[in-house]
Amino acid sequence: MSRSVLVTGGNRGIGLAIARAFAEAGDAVTITHRSGEPPDGLSGVTCDVTDAASVDAAFDKVEAEQGPVEVLVANAGITRDTLLLRMGEEDFTDVLDTNLTGAFRVAKRASRSMLRARKGRMVFISSVVGLLGSPGQVNYAASKAGLVGLARSIARELGSRSITANVVAPGFVESDMTAELSEERRQEILGGIPLGRYASADEVARVVRWVASDEAAYVTGAVIPVDGGLGMGH
Ligand code: NDP
Repeated sequence: MSRSVLVTGGNRGIGLAIARAFAEAGDAVTITHRSGEPPDGLSGVTCDVTDAASVDAAFDKVEAEQGPVEVLVANAGITRDTLLLRMGEEDFTDVLDTNLTGAFRVAKRASRSMLRARKGRMVFISSVVGLLGSPGQVNYAASKAGLVGLARSIARELGSRSITANVVAPGFVESDMTAELSEERRQEILGGIPLGRYASADEVARVVRWVASDEAAYVTGAVIPVDGGLGMGH
């Protein structure tokens, strides 16, 4: 049965692969984008997750066009890497505002109609570094760790209404975000990954689609690694 799916930051990268995976399965999918046009074949709505009014307006539009959101994927995220000593307060708060508070804003808005429907799926895209830590990513890792507490609290609050909240924690994925890494850092990272390679965005997308499916109806509050074994032990 076709569901109403919203993927934040679905205009490129992992979010786009996630959106395409749901669309392939026959769901009605809208992605958020901040500028330009939505990718071919997908509906788009402009939305900046740092702005509650923009989130609200985006949901209003999605609800009017494809019905209340039944599957929410909070994927929008940014990095602003630098070492702790050099990290300005804005570098910290901006990353938290997008990655963590942004996820809170969309989850809160989505919960309204999910509560009414007495069902729903929320999936938060975290990262292996949320639990592993990463030099130069105090802000980013804190935001990604925060998503775990956020999702697990939602799982406890809304579980009685058949709403699940899960975290998918990718390791290193071929994308614009990782293209910025130096070749030296890339080799260093590959050395720590048991599978010896980065993930494709599609490999992350398929896990997200699964955890939002009926097959995963009894999975909630989980942190699902898609990291080639990099984060094992957490
Ligand atoms: P990209 O940088 O390729 O894409 C990020 C997406 O987030 C873009 O669509 C971007 O929109 C959107 N976005 C950023 N800020 C906002 C905002 N304020 N409001 C709305 N949308 C916003 O990243 P990836 O595809 O690599 O990453 C996607 C998610 O996966 C992120 O949460 C990231 O932290 C996580 N992740 C990525 C990994 C990787 O190896 N790449 C590993 C682990 C986790 P716009 O095009 O307008 O900038």
